Amino acid sequence: MFPTYRESERPRCPFCGEPFERPPREVPREQGDFYRFLCSCGAVGALDVTGHNLGDALMETIAFAYGNDWELALAMEADEDYDIKYIDCYHPGDHRVLAGHSVCKTGMAAFVFVKQKSRKHLH
Ligand SMILES: [Zn+2]
Repeated sequence: MFPTYRESERPRCPFCGEPFERPPREVPREQGDFYRFLCSCGAVGALDVTGHNLGDALMETIAFAYGNDWELALAMEADEDYDIKYIDCYHPGDHRVLAGHSVCKTGMAAFVFVKQKSRKHLH
């Protein structure tokens, strides 16, 4: 049984705390193709519906954060040039994050967020 809904379980940008909208139903399901969106704080979020491709989702998100410039993105270093944060245990049907390991199963959807520490390289 799922715990009762709590405001804290609303999916929020891990950088600024802004709640974000439910992704569209038809999220891409092919490997290497992730639903991505931009938060108002400048962080880029990507949804991995399977929870198994977060490594790929992360790379895509970093590239997206750098204007799809893979060369530039690969030259950047985590913690140095950008920060990475994850939201796991996301329940797409309810659009909420499940808290606690008892309800969080592997294979649930997850988000990865990337935010540049400096925007000097962008455009
Ligand atoms: Zn944000």
